[in-house]
Amino acid sequence: MNAPETHRIAERFSTHEVDNQAPLLAPYDAWRTDLPLREAIAREGGGWAEREIAAYGVIAGGELMQLGYTANENKPKFKPFDRYGNRIDEVEFHPAYHRIMQLGVAHGVSNFAWRHADQPGAHVARMAISYLHNQADQGSSCPLTMTYACVPALRHQPSLAQAWLPRVIANAYDQRFIPPDQKTGVTIGMGMTEKQGGSDVRSNSTRAYPVGGRGPGELYELVGHKWFFSAPMCDAFLVLAQTEAGVSCFLLPRFDESGSRNAIRIQRLKDKLGDWSNASSEVEFQGATARMLGEEGRGIATILEMVALTRQDCMIGSASLMRQALVQAIHHARHRKAFGKLLVEQPLMQNVLADLALESEAHAVLTARVSRAVDASARDGKNSASEAAFARIATAVGKYWVCKRAPAFVNEAQECLGGAGYVEETNLPRLYRQAPLNSIWEGSGNIQCLDVLRALTREPASRDAFFAELNTAKGGHPALDAEVVRLQAELAADNADRGTLESRSRFLVERMALSLQAAILVRAGDRRVADTFCESRLGGGHGQVFGTLGVGAPLTYLIDRAFA
Ligand SMILES: Cc1cc2nc3c(=O)[nH]c(=O)nc-3n(C[C@H](O)[C@H](O)[C@H](O)COP(=O)(O)OP(=O)(O)OC[C@H]3O[C@@H](n4cnc5c(N)ncnc54)[C@H](O)[C@@H]3O)c2cc1C
Repeated sequence: MNAPETHRIAERFSTHEVDNQAPLLAPYDAWRTDLPLREAIAREGGGWAEREIAAYGVIAGGELMQLGYTANENKPKFKPFDRYGNRIDEVEFHPAYHRIMQLGVAHGVSNFAWRHADQPGAHVARMAISYLHNQADQGSSCPLTMTYACVPALRHQPSLAQAWLPRVIANAYDQRFIPPDQKTGVTIGMGMTEKQGGSDVRSNSTRAYPVGGRGPGELYELVGHKWFFSAPMCDAFLVLAQTEAGVSCFLLPRFDESGSRNAIRIQRLKDKLGDWSNASSEVEFQGATARMLGEEGRGIATILEMVALTRQDCMIGSASLMRQALVQAIHHARHRKAFGKLLVEQPLMQNVLADLALESEAHAVLTARVSRAVDASARDGKNSASEAAFARIATAVGKYWVCKRAPAFVNEAQECLGGAGYVEETNLPRLYRQAPLNSIWEGSGNIQCLDVLRALTREPASRDAFFAELNTAKGGHPALDAEVVRLQAELAADNADRGTLESRSRFLVERMALSLQAAILVRAGDRRVADTFCESRLGGGHGQVFGTLGVGAPLTYLIDRAFA
């Protein structure tokens, strides 16, 4: 080879210098950099757990972030048979998923609130831990959420609670597929949705046949199916099935009481849009044994105690993934230049980022406030009746609105990264695939709106608690004051006009959510945040998309406040 040829080859391998690209964000401290979250957690009574939360913030922005990529690149695999043809009905997860679960359980995503049940604010602190976890991986949050949420329902049956709760709230993740009494910790799932109906669970066709005695705590055989059955490697599931007295709730373990595999047949795994680190399955029960949980025929009321908490977690999940998308967008804009200036210095990009930051903060503060209400009602139901009533309505309002906002939000954040935001090497495509899930799962949008209407029209305590919360911010901003008056008048008028209420309820719930977020921000006391929110979301000064804050909005303040 002569000299000129060598030179040409060398040139081919060094065509350009990589320039004007943002450095990798991770590892970063997901708690310390999040002032709105830190303020919200302190305000709502979870500040005493700062040490534990802060420790997880470092992990969530570091090891967990990397594990999230790996676990989602390696989807779980269904193993119906072992190598000898024996039916095993197992799902194999990548080691990264198990490590995520281990970290999540050890740091309290599923159990912090119950391990610190005597301390006010434990559910608020746990909200922060879950919010941090979700930013790195959302799929694992499904079993972690269900394990957290099963506790109040499980307590309906003291014998079952005694046997299961210590392992449900243990801070040990035990991935072995063995009978639960041999494990250090267990995870719990739920099975309600069937082919013929998910929202309308009264249509469940799965039947339960008593093995001996009938009623709470007794053993039954279940025959039927579930159309969505997520995290099928959980150790037990709360499921609904029909008895002579109607829909009843059961605790269905993967191993029966003799220690054999229970007759739960996994038919296939769902081929899902997103949520790839987690498996969701279709199952059949072929005489699987389960114990009745709570009163016969009152299964929906029993499982709703679990659903109330999983709905709260849908809010946490969606608020959290929006937060992560925001962080990626701000980070990118702080390092990427176009037309001679950093993106974060361009006025129009500032408007987009500030608007996203404002939106994200509103979701975080609402979620933290709802978590405080959940906390008060879980701790001291009788003495905190108004908080319980508030939790009841605010969870439905928040689940509707926070989850609905996620897809458009993540898409806008993707756009801030330009083409890079559409490529799997960033986590934006994964966040985008995940974004619609929480609005569908655990009661889709319309179901939440109908639930709000039910609370407004049939539960005066919930309606009163909702408006009492809005009134705590009275005088804080004229646009909020005017909107509260309008809402009150409309709902009073609706007493005479129930006919159209249902079809109008989406817009009504949207306005309730925005007013609630505004009231919480007003009370939080940062005038620039609260005023900008009220003016843009309630004062008519905002367009249909992000990046439409009005003239004079404190754009750089909002961006800097959002991500230190
Ligand atoms: C990834 C994933 C995981 C899941 N995991 C589980 C799980 O582990 N366990 C489980 O039990 N379920 C699970 N689900 C199921 C989920 O909870 C249901 O899909 C959801 O509740 C909706 O039920 P459906 O699919 O039967 O839709 P439908 O009930 O048929 O509803 C379809 C649409 O109609 C609307 N609708 C229903 N009734 C009304 C009404 N009266 N007025 C106006 N609109 C109405 C709904 O809001 C929805 O938009 C999972 C779903 C997904 C996507």
